[in-house]
Amino acid sequence: IKNKMTMSFISCSENVGIARITAAAFAAQADFTLSEIEEIKVAVSEAISNAIIHGYGHQDGQIQFEMTLYEEKLECLIIDYGKGIADIALARQPAFSTDPERMGLGFVFMESFMDELDVKSGVGQGTTVKMGK
Ligand code: ATP
Ligand code: MG
Repeated sequence: IKNKMTMSFISCSENVGIARITAAAFAAQADFTLSEIEEIKVAVSEAISNAIIHGYGHQDGQIQFEMTLYEEKLECLIIDYGKGIADIALARQPAFSTDPERMGLGFVFMESFMDELDVKSGVGQGTTVKMGK
């Protein structure tokens, strides 16, 4: 491990921007290009927005955001303790959303902008999104 940080914040949308800036600053230690850093920021924002909107349904809840820099990759973990996802494969399908007002593209962005995406979830327990690049 070269570096590791953990942030914990409540599920209000202001914290998406704080996490984005933190992600960019942390990723800047590694030799990512500016466009790769932009991709990491988008992927992190999508995962944290999902935790706020879907995990907690805009209610108060705790979100943990971890970034770890290894020799060979950057790993991002976004954890919520909210409602969880019943069918992860379905949730990850392009254009699938449980909210008809939304595009259902968050997971698609995470998957295309990062090299690895792993989603673990338990209904009523919460969701952990792990991304590597
Ligand atoms: P968009 O991201 O385009 O605004 P979206 O959030 O619905 O739309 P995705 O981010 O791809 O689309 O997520 C797909 C679905 O997975 C969501 O509609 C929601 O039902 C579920 N989901 C995603 N993240 C979580 C989470 N942290 N907790 C509970 N459900 C989630
Ligand atoms: Mg989303």
